[in-house]
Parts: sequence; C-alpha cells; structure tokens
Amino acid sequence: MATGKDIKTDILVVGGSLNGLPLAIALASAGLDVTVLERDDPADVVDAGFDGRVSAIAHASRNLFKSIGVWEYLEEAEPMLDIRITDGPSKLFLHYDHRQLGDEPFGHMVENRHMRMALLKRAAELDTLTLLAPATYDTVERQSDGVTAVLSDGRTVSARLVVGADGRNSPLRQAAGIGTVGWSYDQAGIVCTVAHEYPHNGVAQERFLNPGPFAILPMSQNRSSLVWTEQTDMAAKIMSLDEAAFEAQMARRFGDYLGKLEVTGPRWSYPLALHQSDSYIAERLALIGDAAHGMHPIAGQGLNLGLRDVAALAEVIIDTARLGLDFGQQATLEKYQRWRRFDSLTLLAITDGLNKLFITDVAPVRLARDLGLAAVHKMPRLKGFFMEHARGTVGVLPRLLDGKPL
Ligand SMILES: Cc1cc2nc3c(=O)[nH]c(=O)nc-3n(C[C@H](O)[C@H](O)[C@H](O)COP(=O)(O)OP(=O)(O)OC[C@H]3O[C@@H](n4cnc5c(N)ncnc54)[C@H](O)[C@@H]3O)c2cc1C
Repeated sequence: MATGKDIKTDILVVGGSLNGLPLAIALASAGLDVTVLERDDPADVVDAGFDGRVSAIAHASRNLFKSIGVWEYLEEAEPMLDIRITDGPSKLFLHYDHRQLGDEPFGHMVENRHMRMALLKRAAELDTLTLLAPATYDTVERQSDGVTAVLSDGRTVSARLVVGADGRNSPLRQAAGIGTVGWSYDQAGIVCTVAHEYPHNGVAQERFLNPGPFAILPMSQNRSSLVWTEQTDMAAKIMSLDEAAFEAQMARRFGDYLGKLEVTGPRWSYPLALHQSDSYIAERLALIGDAAHGMHPIAGQGLNLGLRDVAALAEVIIDTARLGLDFGQQATLEKYQRWRRFDSLTLLAITDGLNKLFITDVAPVRLARDLGLAAVHKMPRLKGFFMEHARGTVGVLPRLLDGKPL
C-alpha cells in the first residue's frame, strides 16, 4: 500500500561504494532518476583519516571519472608512468614505458577515501540522485513490470530496475538464487603504505616472489602502496608482528632501491579468492562490480573491471531510455550481460593463470617464465597489447571509458 513515504524512482542501486556511486552518477547525469541505498554512513568516510586503502585506476577508468564529473573533485592522484615486472631474483624483466603508447600514464594511484569523497561531492550536485545512507532494506520484490523494496525504516521504493552493487557476498544476488563459481587461493593480500627516502619516479613494480606477487605502487610524497601476497598462515603471522619486525619483513622483500623505508598508517590483510556469478542478470536485476565477479589483485584490476560494468550498463540503459523503451526489460539486461560476462571471464582467467604460474617454484617453469618475460619485453606488438590491457583500453569500449559522454 502506498504511503506518503513512498519513493518512486527509475533505478534503485543497492550499494553506494566505488561501483554503485559511479553508476548512479552516470545515470543521473544523463537524466534518469536514481535512488542509492547504502548501509554505511558516508560521514564515516569523510571524517576518517587515511585508512591505507589505495586503488590503481587505469587510464580508461579515469576517462569514466572525467566523463561523469568526478575526477575534478579528487584531492590527489599519483600518475603511474611505468610498470616493471620481475620474477624473484632473476635479472630478466619486462618493462612497460607509457611513452611507447603516448603521453598519458597507464593509470593513477588514488586513495579509496578520496575516491569516495569525490563521488559523494558529485552525487550531491545531481537533483535526480537520492542517496539514502545509512539505510538498507528488509525485502526487495521483483515482478515482470518493476521492483518494490521495503526499507528497514518502513519506506518503500518502487523502480523499473534494481542494480546489485552490494559487494562480493551480494545479498541481492543470493536472494535471486544466482550461484557463483570460484575458489579461495589460500593466500592473503597484506596492504600497507611505505614512506621512502628517494622518489619512485612514477614506476610501479610487480615482483613475483615465491608465495605470490609483491606490488609496489607509486603514491604522492615519496610514498608507495604495497599489495603483498602471502600464504594465509604466513600472512597471519606477519600481521601479528610488532611494528619493527613487520617493517623488517617488508624491507627484506622491498629491497633498498628507494633508500630508507618506514611503514606509515594502518596495515590490512584480505583473504584472496576468485568468483564469477553464474549470471549477471535476473528479472529486473543487474549485478555490477564485486557482486558479479572478484579476482586476485595480481594485476590491480578488480575495481577497473567493475567500472567497465558501470560504463556498459549505463550505456545500454541510457540508449534504451532514449528510444522511449523500458530499460528494465530482459532484452536490455541481456545486452549488458553479453557485453560484460566474457570480458570479465577472460581477465579472471588471466589473473588466475598468472598467479598459479608465478607461485610455481619448479626450475624449468621458472626458467620458461623468465624467458617469456624477457621475450615479451623485446616484442613491440605483443608488449603493446599487454600495455593497452594495463591501460584498460582493450576490447569494445563503452563510450564513458573512451572519454565520451553517454
Ligand atoms: C588487497 C586488494 C587490493 C586491491 N587493489 C585494487 C587495485 O589496485 N585496483 C583495482 O581496480 N581493484 C583493486 N581491488 C579490488 C577492489 O577493491 C574491489 O573490486 C572494489 O572495491 C569492489 O567495489 P564494489 O563497490 O563492487 O563492492 P564493495 O566495495 O564491497 O561495496 C559494496 C557496498 O554495498 C553496501 N551494501 C552491501 N549490502 C547492502 C545492503 N543490503 N544494503 C545497503 N548497502 C549494502 C556495502 O556497505 C558496501 O558499501 C583490490 C582488492 C583487494 C582485496
């Protein structure tokens, strides 16, 4: 039964994090009415200091942020100019130099809190975007002609489509009975920030050490963000060390090429796993970001992949709406799924394969992969293809990722 508290909207987005908010902003900027439901309080994000979480935003994802008016609100973004890939102590390497593709960096390192603050600022400018936070729902009912959500405070929201941007355990995905395939890696990613004596010159390092990749990613003010993979048991032991012992373990892997090192800010540890949803869509439902897929952070592409979902879904919805058709209908959602599922699967398989290849410590495999790295380094066309991948500019790009308006 309708009450004065009922909200009527075009699209309900559940989850107002790094994928949900960009989608809502893209759709609202193009004229649709969007309501976002986010469980966490945005004030916590704005008030919190640096929490150690940083993401590599590929060139194509930056295009999206620029196109939807978010990039200009970012307080800080450190360009990633080169990427150097090495395998343990081997002298063979693969080096990507951004100048081989033009003037633009491969991407930028951005603190997650800065991204969320910029997204919140842009969202607040849009009259057709309503952010309900902190807020959640008790039920979401999907019918052939629309969706009705009953919020925990008793209000109802009716929409033509609900989007699940509600993270890796996506309650919406589970309620729709959509299963996932995937596995845990028995690895954890330790994340921390390191201040160093010498400048990194915008070079990101991806080192393949025996327990897993050790990534050193350039941040502002002579700092780097580390994503340091260890087996689960070892990660727990390292995380429990006191500051001095933790720093010593870190420095042993980091080396001395940037001079004196100091861990600054908090450290985090994330269990690493891969998952792919059996479907990205159901009746009046589309899944994006971690709700649809999750991967090993080996290539720093998890969020970038989600932003590809954002750009593709926004494009099919807006193109359908402009024709005066129902954008929540199955045909529109299938177009989105066809565009995104194969691309995600490919990247999931690549990151999974790379992780397995580089944790193998058998001498002939080590030799083969080192020769492979060195060979790619000397093959301009193949190297160019990999560099385009790092920039996120491979495949049929939605308009927003190409820097164009919707
Ligand atoms: C160690 C590590 C390093 C990484 N580094 C990178 C990197 O460098 N580059 C990169 O591209 N990616 C990286 N990633 C991946 C990236 O962090 C994730 O892919 C991304 O943050 C997922 O965003 P999301 O919005 O889909 O989900 P989430 O961030 O999980 O957001 C889901 C949101 O939904 C809300 N929510 C859930 N349920 C409800 C509900 N019922 N009602 C209301 N709200 C709800 C939650 O509160 C949350 O805010 C990394 C991941 C790891 C583990």
